[in-house]
Amino acid sequence: SQFVRHFAHSPGVMAPTPKSYDYIVIGGGSGGSGAARRAAGWYGAKTLLVENGRSGGTCVNVGCVPKKMTWYFASVNETLKGAVNYFYDVPDNIKFHFDKFKKRRDESILRLNGAYERNWSREGIDLVHGTAKFTAEKEIEVDMQDGSGKASFTAPHILIATGGHPVIPEGIDGAEHGITSDGFFDIEYLPKKMAVVGAGYIAVEMAGMLNAIGVEVHMFLRGETFLRTFDPMVQDTMTKAYGDAGVIIHKGYPGFKKVERLDQVSPSVPDANAHERWADGPSPNKQLRITDNQGQTFECNELLWAIGRAPEVAPLALDVPGIQLTGRGHIAVDEFQNTNVGGIYALGDVTGQSELTPVAIAAGRQLGNRLFGPPEVRQSKLSYDNIPTVVFSHPEVGTVGLTEPQAESKYGQENVKVYKTKFVAMYFDVFNAEEKAKHPTQYKIVCAGPDEKVVGLHILGEGSGEMLQGFGVAIKMGATKADFDRCVAIHPTSAEELVTMR
Ligand code: FAD
Ligand code: NDP
Repeated sequence: SQFVRHFAHSPGVMAPTPKSYDYIVIGGGSGGSGAARRAAGWYGAKTLLVENGRSGGTCVNVGCVPKKMTWYFASVNETLKGAVNYFYDVPDNIKFHFDKFKKRRDESILRLNGAYERNWSREGIDLVHGTAKFTAEKEIEVDMQDGSGKASFTAPHILIATGGHPVIPEGIDGAEHGITSDGFFDIEYLPKKMAVVGAGYIAVEMAGMLNAIGVEVHMFLRGETFLRTFDPMVQDTMTKAYGDAGVIIHKGYPGFKKVERLDQVSPSVPDANAHERWADGPSPNKQLRITDNQGQTFECNELLWAIGRAPEVAPLALDVPGIQLTGRGHIAVDEFQNTNVGGIYALGDVTGQSELTPVAIAAGRQLGNRLFGPPEVRQSKLSYDNIPTVVFSHPEVGTVGLTEPQAESKYGQENVKVYKTKFVAMYFDVFNAEEKAKHPTQYKIVCAGPDEKVVGLHILGEGSGEMLQGFGVAIKMGATKADFDRCVAIHPTSAEELVTMR
């Protein structure tokens, strides 16, 4: 149900009346889609969705989905490497075809783009492809991607769910020769040697995948550990685990001064038939030389900037309605996702609140309830407490609630009790001692108060991603350590340790 509207632009012709809706949603990513579908699909609000990229946004196209598929690709290689411990004769140098996998992954995403659009259409949402900007407080203009010019729309309720984009650092000569997470998903032929700058979710996930596939990965961190917003247990253990797994970690690096591209800027497309595996075929011929602030040089075949994301606000002309931003440039909102301008709302990454897909979707649905639902849901809002999150690292990390230092500062050190365990998961039992030591499993439960309410849970090890969701429910319900202990263990699993800790 592509909605297209044509307008006359010749001087002297009166500006056409903007088409009017109940609800305009700018951005068809996780948050915008969740918001529009709740409003239109559940409550029948006449809804317009404006999207200037590929339907589904970051998560579907250059985020969670292709990332998790690539994580599975890497996990297959890890399993193959470990198979010798189970006495499988797995030949060295098994060929793999990353380019073919990438093609299949792209096809899956294309199907998802279509599924998003079909769902919107089924729920009566009008979709226009183009870039939206404000032209008045309750009016937007869309620069239509179908070449039909500009179209104007108005609604009493306008939601901004425009997400964000990866940052390329300023002030580094030649920084543009590197790629960001968006470019990671364009890689068809793996680089042999890769530099990754950053130590957050994206750096850790991508470095882990590339290393597991067999790329020589160098991580450049300005601090000493990864994932510095996570519990110290996670930071320390994961940084060590990556080193043990073969990632070369440059801690406390002094920053880069310049990046030079040594090869021809437009490399010829390699012969696809020769590329069954990068190690056998010609490697992609990108050659970069990086010079750091102390004059040291480093050469590699690709450079990934993973130093954070910035909100996508520039094209929106937010000064027209006068929408306020936070100090970090995100759209400032209250607990109901209201901006400072009545009838204009924002949610998801553009607000910088827990930048996760399910958070954006949940906030969008709650907002739909509040604006268009029956009286009993008119106070709906998303609670941002105890949001579970998983880093798809090697091994996975799961976290919900407060870190140990956060709990101590909130409740006082004397009121916090911590339970910890560290062991080798059964899968690795048959590995030799040196290999076993490279595969940590560690869990920490952070409890507060006399009833030992669980206020934080931190887990790392195989299967943590699937394990955390159920514990997230329990913690959201206010579980205590005694509640955990009352649940009978499932044996033999790693998760059973969480209900048997002393
Ligand atoms: P987006 O999904 O970015 O959607 C915004 C949309 O608005 C985009 O489609 C954009 O094209 C459109 N838009 C922007 N400006 C305009 C405009 N002016 N006019 C019209 N349209 C516009 N989260 C998880 O929960 N789990 C994960 O495993 C995970 N992995 C990730 C991996 C990577 C590499 C990245 C980058 C992110 C990952 N995330 C993950 C985060 C997740 O993708 C985001 O939190 C989520 O997509 C945010 O949704 P959103 O709706 O706020 O923004
Ligand atoms: P993060 O905020 O997680 O991490 C940014 C990293 O960049 C930090 O390690 C920071 O280092 C580092 N950094 C910042 N500036 C510089 C610099 N100038 N030089 C070197 N390092 C620098 O951002 P990401 O881009 O990794 O991810 C964005 C968000 O997307 C995440 O916060 C998360 O919400 C979401 N996401 C979620 C995923 C999931 O759910 N599995 C996966 C991927 C993304 P320092 O430690 O020193 O501060």
